[in-house]
Amino acid sequence: MPITLPGSCFCRALTYELTLDSVDQARATLCHCTNCKKAFGTNYGLTAKVPVKSFKYTRGTPRDHRADNGVTREFCEICGSYILEYGDAAKNDFRYITVGSLDDPSQLPPKGEFFCKDRLSWMPQIPNTFQKSEIKE
Ligand SMILES: [Zn+2]
Ligand SMILES: [Zn+2]
Repeated sequence: MPITLPGSCFCRALTYELTLDSVDQARATLCHCTNCKKAFGTNYGLTAKVPVKSFKYTRGTPRDHRADNGVTREFCEICGSYILEYGDAAKNDFRYITVGSLDDPSQLPPKGEFFCKDRLSWMPQIPNTFQKSEIKE
């Protein structure tokens, strides 16, 4: 069933819509890599991989930052909320949106975990999800 999921940054200067054929078109995952720890400011990142055409900003223009590893992050220049990321290779195909920026993050529960080798020791495994030691793809 087609579904439209609205989202925004914390201050709502940026708003967006995610329009999917079904929620299965999005794949939400945790990532425990060191880059996600820094970018999210927490011990893991939580993003949903979605087709690039499913995502559009409905208000505002993000700032972006491209890191040496070829990953570009888009964020609100006013409040700093992190909205999405993409690597150079996936640029024309996919976006990884931050699940917490959705108005209702419960719509996209995680299907797996990446970079489990960097999981903090107190952080439990998420039940009934796939587990990958490293690469996020
Ligand atoms: Zn903002
Ligand atoms: Zn990561």
